[in-house]
Amino acid sequence: MASWSISQSRELYGVNRWGNDYFDINDDGEAVVILRDGAQKVPVSLKRVVDGMRERGFALPQILRFRDLLDNRIESLNDAFSSAIKAANYTGEYRGVYPIKVNQQQQVIEEISAFGTKYHTGLEAGSKAELIAALSYTSDKEALIICNGYKDDEFIDLALHATHLGMNIFIVIEMPGELPDILRRSRALGIRPRLGVRFRLSARSEGHWASSGGDRSVFGLNTSQLIDLIDELRTEQYLDCMQLFHYHQGSQLPNIRVIREAALEAMQVYVSLVKEGAPMGYLDMGGGLAVDYDGSQENASSSCNYTLPEYCADLIETVQEQCRIANVKEPHLITESGRAIVAYYSVLTFDILDVTRFEQHEPLPQPGKDQPQILKNIWDISLRIDEKNLQECFNDALYYRDQARAQFTHGNLDLRSRGEAERLYWWVCTLMAKIVSTMEEPPEELAALDENLIDFYYANFSVFQSLPDAWAIDQIFPFMPLHKLNEKPEHRAILADITCDCDGKIDKFIDQDGIRNHLPVHDRKPGDDYVIGAFLVGAYQETLGDLHNLLGDPHVVSVGVKNGEITFDHEVEGDSVADVLSYVEYDTKNLERRFRKKVEEAVQEGIITAAERKTIMTAYRETLTGYTYYEA
Ligand SMILES: *Cc1c(COP(=O)(O)O)cnc(C)c1O
Repeated sequence: MASWSISQSRELYGVNRWGNDYFDINDDGEAVVILRDGAQKVPVSLKRVVDGMRERGFALPQILRFRDLLDNRIESLNDAFSSAIKAANYTGEYRGVYPIKVNQQQQVIEEISAFGTKYHTGLEAGSKAELIAALSYTSDKEALIICNGYKDDEFIDLALHATHLGMNIFIVIEMPGELPDILRRSRALGIRPRLGVRFRLSARSEGHWASSGGDRSVFGLNTSQLIDLIDELRTEQYLDCMQLFHYHQGSQLPNIRVIREAALEAMQVYVSLVKEGAPMGYLDMGGGLAVDYDGSQENASSSCNYTLPEYCADLIETVQEQCRIANVKEPHLITESGRAIVAYYSVLTFDILDVTRFEQHEPLPQPGKDQPQILKNIWDISLRIDEKNLQECFNDALYYRDQARAQFTHGNLDLRSRGEAERLYWWVCTLMAKIVSTMEEPPEELAALDENLIDFYYANFSVFQSLPDAWAIDQIFPFMPLHKLNEKPEHRAILADITCDCDGKIDKFIDQDGIRNHLPVHDRKPGDDYVIGAFLVGAYQETLGDLHNLLGDPHVVSVGVKNGEITFDHEVEGDSVADVLSYVEYDTKNLERRFRKKVEEAVQEGIITAAERKTIMTAYRETLTGYTYYEA
């Protein structure tokens, strides 16, 4: 076996860059997550976790969640802001609010409100359902609840009642039409609201979500609408309720200069609102704090060109400077960081079910005398290949392969020989690709030859269900095998999922310098256990996913360590086939009745016996109650 070290795997899969000291590789070549066990930090093998779950009856795919990493992110964000505040002698405080939409799972909200109490971490709600969750999971009186989104009377009433209860809640006006409703309900209930306003900045945004901030963003008031709002509040004698200014530039902002520009523009508006006579006091700078998915630390959509301390320091500096110039009191700062809090929290794990190889590394024997001439023609190319005649060899290989196909179509070549011809063709291409890879200027047509030789590894998960952003917006996530990382990965693969949809594949992976079109993978023989993880999938992926091909939610487990032992808790069984069918409005009782009728008819007609009916119905029911994914 070729010599290979763990540090080469670290570099190749980039875990030393995107792992953020949360993920690494141990001496046995297994991917590990670093979790706290009391005062210690211990590496936990993800392969051991997956195997432990399988022993407990949960097949792959599984989503592994790490509460400790969630806590760690909350801690890092708050520590970074408090250090920056201290360093600048900033007089306002920092208050994080977690936007529920980024990962709405009850466990996440529960953990954030429990662990976040010491930092007074609050919640951001963009709908009535999220507000209900936020109200029930906020026990800390200082933690903020920020109400964004379009609000009807029910939403407004509930927020007003919470204000009356003494909760630290803001109703943020996102549209001009919301104010009359809020005033009407406030007067009806006799409760004065604490108001915020969302503003549409003109500062440019960058990254995937560029259009969700700026002039064309759907939410937020523009300047003239803001002026009208202030006038109306003054006329209605509600200007004293206006205490918070909010903007949101969009998610995953890669460029710190763009973030600063927005803060600068926002501060001009903030200061103007103070001068208009609104009490203000809070500046809510929205989400957008990026996650470095590829570890490149660049201004690119899957990365960012700043660190967390830099982000905090730059925001504080900008705000402080503008307050000084305008002689305005420094506001409390709020960020609605979602992605940066939960991305590290989950890993999706899946096994490889099958492999289609294109590269043929093993030399193929010369076809015998009794075999068709066309096979010999292809094989003979292998003897001639060198740098100078590469193009000619490639032309010949293509020509003979097409000839073989034509002969087959016209009945002059049998299926077995056609298969043999294609295998020889891939082998000859593999030989040529090896030479191409060493050439400075290969023939143009051959430069991409290598790409056509990438293997397919069939992966037991659904891109649409579990990594929707990889499909919808070409988001890059880090992938890495969970074991064998002390062996050299000799193959290259595209991951094809089990939806049978041609879009159901992952063919963009992180690389030392940019993006590559394959994942380096280890050999996998039929029956081998080979498990891969998709990392940093805690933000947005779980509930954006859909039921394409009726593949449902995977199994979930929360993993920790206690006294050196791995702990499994909060296991949630994934969807059964019956579950997903009911989501699309099948009545499973009715389905079974229909099928049973058919089976009984077969008994009546003597096609099967009554005992066989029992076996068939048992198989039907087992499938109905089973997992939607491939079960070994
Ligand atoms: C989505 C959203 C966020 C979260 O953004 P992240 O990039 O995940 O931090 C924050 N605020 C608002 C208003 C949002 O719509």
